[in-house]
Amino acid sequence: MSIVYGPVPSWRLARSLGVDLTPGDVKTCSFDCIYCQLGRTARPLAERAQFVSLEALAAELEAARGVGADYVTFSGMGEPTLAANLGDAIHLARATLGLPVAVLTNSSLMTRKDVREDLACADVVVAKLDAPNQQLFQRISRPVVDLSLQDIVQGINLFRTEHKGRLALEMMFVRANKDLAAEMAALARRLAPDEVQINTPLRPCAVAPLTPDELAAIRAEFKEIQVLTAYEATRPVVTPLDAGETLRRRPPAGPQDVGASVPERGAR
Ligand code: SF4
Repeated sequence: MSIVYGPVPSWRLARSLGVDLTPGDVKTCSFDCIYCQLGRTARPLAERAQFVSLEALAAELEAARGVGADYVTFSGMGEPTLAANLGDAIHLARATLGLPVAVLTNSSLMTRKDVREDLACADVVVAKLDAPNQQLFQRISRPVVDLSLQDIVQGINLFRTEHKGRLALEMMFVRANKDLAAEMAALARRLAPDEVQINTPLRPCAVAPLTPDELAAIRAEFKEIQVLTAYEATRPVVTPLDAGETLRRRPPAGPQDVGASVPERGAR
């Protein structure tokens, strides 16, 4: 299998069967985040294209029928909203496996109506937001083309207004933004997601994770907001269909990944 992988034990989505609409040996992304566990962005892209056919996806979903999973999650070797057939792929996955569908997005293309419409097909959207200002956004997310954080926030806001499904914000905290938790919390309050997922890079990458105490101090800024943090969450134990395809997208975890036979990717 090269499109469907896992299931992986997710701290946010329990047993999560992955669908990768940008498969390949290298990462295809509109960002080049400093903490990405997939390494540098070898295929920078900010325009939508079709990377896999629905026929190929259908065959792999058929082979995964009956797998023990709680969610089908669109993620993988890049940014899933770059796939122009994301909406159709979501419908196909739900119809084939009868599971709720989640999408992990870096939010970069949520300024586009067609992307928001595709994301609205999902049951859960987890939208990344790592910086409260443009300067830090450039430094942490390193967009591959000129992108305005203000426009991205507006895109998330529009999605929140237009779509009644479940929206979570994922905020990755590293040294560069750890002292701006109050600003990040204010941003979260404006967008009013169902949940904020406070993360730190637990997967091996170029940036060290914050400690549990540091994450707890950040959490304290998110008063009156439903919050889940990477250190507090529990992960189920699962067995992937294909360990090689899974580990390529989710490298081995450190000791923080208690209870996981195959780690969830911590980059998103
Ligand atoms: S963490 Fe996600 S959004 Fe950032 S570069 Fe990696 S794949 Fe792209």
